[in-house]
Amino acid sequence: MSTSETGPAHKLLILPGDGIGKEVMREVRRVIDWFQRRRNIAFEVTEGLVGGSSIDAHGLPITDETMALAHAADAVLLGAVGGPKWDNLPFAIKPERGLLRLRKELELFANLRPAMCYAALADASSLKRELVEGLDIVIVRELTGGVYFGEPRGIETLPDGQRRGINTQVYTTDEIRRVARVAFELAKGRGNKVTSSEKANVMESGVLWREEVQRLHDEEFPEVELEHMYADNAAMQLVRRPKQFDVIVTDNLFGDILSDAAAMLTGSLGMLPSASLGAPRADGKRPALYEPVHGSAPDIAGQEIANPIATILSFAMALRWSFGLADEATRLEKAVEHVLSGGLRTADILQPGTAKVSTGVMGEAIVRALDKVTI
Ligand code: NAD
Repeated sequence: MSTSETGPAHKLLILPGDGIGKEVMREVRRVIDWFQRRRNIAFEVTEGLVGGSSIDAHGLPITDETMALAHAADAVLLGAVGGPKWDNLPFAIKPERGLLRLRKELELFANLRPAMCYAALADASSLKRELVEGLDIVIVRELTGGVYFGEPRGIETLPDGQRRGINTQVYTTDEIRRVARVAFELAKGRGNKVTSSEKANVMESGVLWREEVQRLHDEEFPEVELEHMYADNAAMQLVRRPKQFDVIVTDNLFGDILSDAAAMLTGSLGMLPSASLGAPRADGKRPALYEPVHGSAPDIAGQEIANPIATILSFAMALRWSFGLADEATRLEKAVEHVLSGGLRTADILQPGTAKVSTGVMGEAIVRALDKVTI
């Protein structure tokens, strides 16, 4: 096997983080080695600290030096941060602040969460097999605006002694258009359909969202099918007939909820990758952070039983979105599918009739499958 890859090495910053982050990232390193060895793809990999491990080493959840590496990289791949050891630290230096600083300073406004259901895992879903088998949808959630950031916010005491909590849902034209653009571009390479979700029936910000998404569609993406759906209906449709969707684009709050609902369609947290993208830089490349949806799982850390697939699939997203290697991404996804169909399972996705394997054996099996699958 050979590839025609030439040009400068793809720059990847790896931040394993805490808990199982370190264990699952070790398996990704093996996958990267395979692509270097067998496909002649050059990666320039640097590794840094984030979260609790950075607090232990430097007193901060992420250092300026690591931030500089993140800015210089084509993509950042993060494991997970946090754990009981750091739970009682002041808010400003908690492990999660490292992740938040990365998201904020790289201006990662579009969060992509695919929900794919491998045939071999369809019985692990909370829905019936026929509803989820072959499911392949992506939720694009706006990540840096909306009600989680809008002002005014706070809790105030009224003259009569009652308290009042306030948050403000606010979006501008640009904020809506840039995330909608990501969704349309994504859909063009997939099923060519975007469902935009808001509550335009009761919220002005939803009316603006709907109008701006429609306008962008008409101006730049008329060939992509666009539908608008109220967020409450989208939640219902996701559990009723999820395969009707291709790409769903929605705001920060609704995206938070809809992406978690979609996640449960696929079975296990250990299977779910994600990507967060920023605006293209002068060289055309986007800042990008790839990470599994799960956390550092302190309850199983150090036991070698964590499922590495969510992080391996996050690397597949990096191949597709940051390195322009869509075929190689497909190869890696197929290798994962091959191993699952062969009946190997980590404990979190174990089913009757399948074989329980460790984190390392799962990683090894995926690397071996890379030699076998064809695309
Ligand atoms: P979690 O995702 O770490 O774990 C939830 C449950 O799922 C646990 O029982 C865990 O064992 C299991 N699980 C998670 N990933 C798994 C995998 N790959 N393989 C097998 N089982 C897996 O969530 P939590 O327990 O709520 O949080 C634990 C810590 O992680 C906390 O400190 C939290 O703040 C942090 N956290 C970090 C991130 C992140 O880094 N993005 C996200 C969520 C939580």
